[in-house]
Amino acid sequence: MAEIIKIIVFGILAWFFVLKIVIPLALNFYFKSDSFISMKNNLALNAEKCNALNDHIEDLKLSYSGMESFDYGEGQLVDNSRYNMQRRQWANQANNRRTHQCSASVVKNANNQPFKYLCKYFNIKTNEATLEQLEMVLNNFLAVEQGRVLLINERDTVVTTVIDSIPWAVWRYDKERVKQELGFTPVNLNQLHFPEYTFQYISAGGNSSSSFIFKLNLDQLERFVGYLSEIVKFKKSAAGQRSLMTARLREQIKQRDNYTCKMCYISTSSERNLLLEIDHIIPISKGGMTTEDNLQVLCWRCNRSKGSKVA
Ligand SMILES: [Zn+2]
Repeated sequence: MAEIIKIIVFGILAWFFVLKIVIPLALNFYFKSDSFISMKNNLALNAEKCNALNDHIEDLKLSYSGMESFDYGEGQLVDNSRYNMQRRQWANQANNRRTHQCSASVVKNANNQPFKYLCKYFNIKTNEATLEQLEMVLNNFLAVEQGRVLLINERDTVVTTVIDSIPWAVWRYDKERVKQELGFTPVNLNQLHFPEYTFQYISAGGNSSSSFIFKLNLDQLERFVGYLSEIVKFKKSAAGQRSLMTARLREQIKQRDNYTCKMCYISTSSERNLLLEIDHIIPISKGGMTTEDNLQVLCWRCNRSKGSKVA
């Protein structure tokens, strides 16, 4: 019996030793080897291109937070009750500008009509300016989704060209690590850039509560744009002339422009994983509208440099 325990303990220790010491040391040794470093240098330009797109995607994710400009101010809530009221739920009370404390019936109604309650309780004005901003956010978020897929494709295509030179065991052990060591910034796949709004009810005694959480993901954003456009009715433009910036319109413009950037004439046939974006020729901020003749295809690089010039 004691023998078996000894073997088990020894086995665990040996495994631990291999896992925590031998493998990391061997990996570090390999990643510092001349052959790996020269491989990395050969791919440096490709990695740099991918990382630039990665940075661009991360910037696009911030589109919505730039839209919320109002400040409600903040203070500190103190519970001065004399009696021993625990108010357990109060401790969980979220206090941020995307949470609205309200009655139980508002929570219930918000669940039934999210868009209406979102505008009403979070001060989102139902006008053309809001609609334009939301269309811009939707356009950018669609580019994020597409850009991530293209970025991963491009990175994996580049890495595949050197895969035969990497020891099989190293590649199998930690593919992500190999990509990082080759100089590629990890692609952040989280969905945290989609804004989330909460309607929260907590009873005065703090014992009962309910909440409704509404996430403006791509589908909901597109529907929200549709909802606002029904209310706004495009006052500024002649009826029917203005289009809504939707996923379908994006695809339509790309097709019309033959998947080619109108500034540098690069196209998806010469760069397979090229991210194309839809640009307003006359920017919205200068009175340009979302009409087909004011939209064009730009590659992400040209769009980025145009954007920085306008700003
Ligand atoms: Zn271009």
